[in-house]
Amino acid sequence: MTELLTRTPVPGAVAANPDSSEVRVNMSGAPGDSSGGASSRRSRVNSHSHSHSHGHSRPQHHSNSEPELDPTDSDLDSGEPSASLSELRCLFRWLQKSLPFLIILCAKLVIQHALGLAVGIGLFTTFLYVNKNIQTQVFLQDRHSKLQCLWLLLFLISSTLLLYYTFVTETLYHCLIFFTPTIEALGFWEILWAVGITNFIIKFLFMGIKCLILLLPSSLVTYRAQGRWLMLTEELGQVHQAIAPLPLWFRYLVTYQETDGAPGLTLGVLLALVYLILKLLGLYGQCASFLKTVRIFLIGEHTGTAATRSQCSEAGDVCPICQGDYREPRALLCQHIFCDECIALWFNREKSCPLCRTVITEKVYKWRDGATSPHLQIY
Ligand SMILES: [Zn+2]
Ligand SMILES: [Zn+2]
Repeated sequence: MTELLTRTPVPGAVAANPDSSEVRVNMSGAPGDSSGGASSRRSRVNSHSHSHSHGHSRPQHHSNSEPELDPTDSDLDSGEPSASLSELRCLFRWLQKSLPFLIILCAKLVIQHALGLAVGIGLFTTFLYVNKNIQTQVFLQDRHSKLQCLWLLLFLISSTLLLYYTFVTETLYHCLIFFTPTIEALGFWEILWAVGITNFIIKFLFMGIKCLILLLPSSLVTYRAQGRWLMLTEELGQVHQAIAPLPLWFRYLVTYQETDGAPGLTLGVLLALVYLILKLLGLYGQCASFLKTVRIFLIGEHTGTAATRSQCSEAGDVCPICQGDYREPRALLCQHIFCDECIALWFNREKSCPLCRTVITEKVYKWRDGATSPHLQIY
């Protein structure tokens, strides 16, 4: 039986715990003595060691003033500052564990709704393609290709017909004329589906009208008037898009919880009325802007007055935009003179004089460039 007797050289430790100044380390681990083999081995290695009243085997611990609390203290020290971090780590670990399940779930959803997803992607890409091409054709003006416009029109018609043919049993085209389709169990997702499809089809419809406007001979619709026609078409399309989801959501809200009896029905009617009021308020604002567009379409914008012959000769008889002789010259507020058509096309995109930047119109009316709003009118 080997006994190690160490005497502490630290006076503080003695003062704090005088009883522990002497440590008996029993190599055989006698009962009652808490110090184990590891401690005794360490005591031998660190011959200069301080008192070891307990056999905590942390080699970096040298303070023995409070030997009982040391392990817990060190745990708390490392735990408190990183509490939020450990929570995050926990969350991350949970996510890491559930990631395979989420992937499986996504795969299942994708397979289950493959057709719906494909239709959605198809509609969106068709929209992007046609929208970009119509804008290009409008930009090209007299250099635009009628063939390209015809192709876009046919593309839109065939996409629409293909879609309605695929879902012929659902009679989704009813939504276009504000009827509800004959989908069984008109639930939330079915409504969303019908509203989304209808929204795209209405966009296609009005894009088709824009193609027709481009196809008309320039003697019928001049390039000067083309911007206004396109603007009116787009505004009409937006009003149609805003009204189309109204009957669907109204019916959905009214029939909500109908099976529960009278209270459910009352709640449904209340919700539907609130929706109707909000919708009508929105439509009121939209109609105001639509009427403004119609007014501009009918009377045109006041951008300047007809220039006299003397004004034109003062300006050098050359239009600064087309660099040619003046055709129906118009003098702006800033007295700069341009051809009527040149300056009208300029104001399709800008609101100031091309020469001196004097602001002539209060705002640039959108949609004159043939663009269609990508905004999806869901409700
Ligand atoms: Zn000109
Ligand atoms: Zn000017």
